[in-house]
Amino acid sequence: MHKFKIKMAKQEDVFKKLISHAKEYGFIFPSSEIYDGLSAIYDYGQNGVELKNNIKQYWWKAMVQLNENIVGIDTAIFMHPTIWKASGHVDAFNDPLIDNKDSKKRFRADVLIEDYCAKLEEKAQKEIDKAAKRFGEAFDKNEFETTNGRVVEYREKQKTILTRMAKSLEAEDLDDVKALIEELEIADPDTGSKNWTDVRQFNLMFGTKLGASADTATDLYLRPETAQGIFVNFLNVQKTSRHKLPFGIAQIGKAFRNEIVARQFIFRMREFEQMEMQFFVPPGTELGFYEEWKQKRLNWHLALGLGDDNYKFHDHEKLAHYANAAADIEFKFPFGFKELEGIHSRTDFDLSAHEKFSGRKLQYFDAERNENYVPYVVETSVGLDRLFLAIFANSLKDEVLDDGSERTVLSLPPALAPVKAAILPLMKKDGLGEYGEKIFNELKYDFNMIYEDKDSIGKRYRRQDAIGTPFCITIDHDSLADDTVTLRDRDTMKQERVAVSDLRRIIDEKTNFRNLLSKI
Ligand code: ATP
Repeated sequence: MHKFKIKMAKQEDVFKKLISHAKEYGFIFPSSEIYDGLSAIYDYGQNGVELKNNIKQYWWKAMVQLNENIVGIDTAIFMHPTIWKASGHVDAFNDPLIDNKDSKKRFRADVLIEDYCAKLEEKAQKEIDKAAKRFGEAFDKNEFETTNGRVVEYREKQKTILTRMAKSLEAEDLDDVKALIEELEIADPDTGSKNWTDVRQFNLMFGTKLGASADTATDLYLRPETAQGIFVNFLNVQKTSRHKLPFGIAQIGKAFRNEIVARQFIFRMREFEQMEMQFFVPPGTELGFYEEWKQKRLNWHLALGLGDDNYKFHDHEKLAHYANAAADIEFKFPFGFKELEGIHSRTDFDLSAHEKFSGRKLQYFDAERNENYVPYVVETSVGLDRLFLAIFANSLKDEVLDDGSERTVLSLPPALAPVKAAILPLMKKDGLGEYGEKIFNELKYDFNMIYEDKDSIGKRYRRQDAIGTPFCITIDHDSLADDTVTLRDRDTMKQERVAVSDLRRIIDEKTNFRNLLSKI
């Protein structure tokens, strides 16, 4: 077996390399590139769409297929405009915006403050790491965290700052948010300037029009989340599926947000996809289900095998207007721990608001309790593109092999790989090409594959490594005589001779979704 070292590089360089790898190998292209692109909008290429579809399938199967009491739907992007009044998006889907007068750059005021707190946390972590090294085996992390003066001070400061920010945002006291930025002496991270404008609210919804003539046209919004499509269909689905509470509705679809700052590739886009599930439960039981879904969703992520230490929960201090509990699952992106998924206990806020605004009842008759009520909702909401980035970033590795040569490999979970196997005849002539095509045609009903007979075999292996193909199948002259081929494993680079008749089973064993789903 080959042994290899993973080459270490600076985080910034890693991120740049990731973006160019995504483009070079047909995963992600900047949108409208020949017109110099469109800010924070991206297109998925031939390999990107396969990876993205596989991630969707993993989510859909885990939610809809594995849970008897969850069904899926697919609702329209355009919805009645009153929906966004009812949901609170027209009045409250705002981000606090601040401009730097010198650099002319725009920031989210809450993110500037949160980043400041993240730095305080880094300092606390450094103290803890230092002490852990000094005390070795005898180190009691919990005791140190609660008694060390500096750590306690850093943590208390963070808490004071975040609580004050949450209070000011809640009370719409934007002057105080600015005052906080000034008191903390927060500067533009690129230029160091502390010359700030006032903080203003900015609504993130995109508007558009429905109708032929300007005077009769109706103002619409592009949906900023998929959840509302589920809420307004709650009774349709409940009645036609005949599910009793608790039950869930899942949806995957596009959402649109006019983000103030969008500088981190597909982490924050203006057009993106969400995978959301709303779980309807009897009032008073929601916090139990909330805890359950937090854990279930974390387990779903952990099953991908990207490393348990790359995930952590972040419980919200500042709750959205609709929630009575909320947490993020954060992932260690190349630029630090950031939100990957949100789990929210949304109470009966949305359904009650839609009852009020539509004048229709959105209630459920609970036979056990013998009463009608508006269900409570626990929601899980993950960004598909953000998840793509997490998986892609974590899988992309530069390795130095035993013989000193290097390779770039995308060690994706095999079930998610765009191409499951590459059929590579050593040459096209002597019937090797035809033999390869025959194998391709047999396996194509089960797996997405590639057939390639150009270039040296080494070069072809490298190309498949770079897009994460779990298996390469090489055909040589012996294959014609004894119906065997060389099977190369992407991760170990081990090559073994196998019978053609075994290929289907071997590829399936490695790439089947069951491998992921059974670990949840
Ligand atoms: P953030 O705080 O990063 O703006 P959010 O809390 O507004 O995110 P939610 O409204 O909870 O996000 O949306 C659920 C999920 O949708 C997020 O966890 C994230 O994965 C994804 N998401 C939200 N906004 C974007 C975006 N602009 N681009 C890509 N994914 C996004």
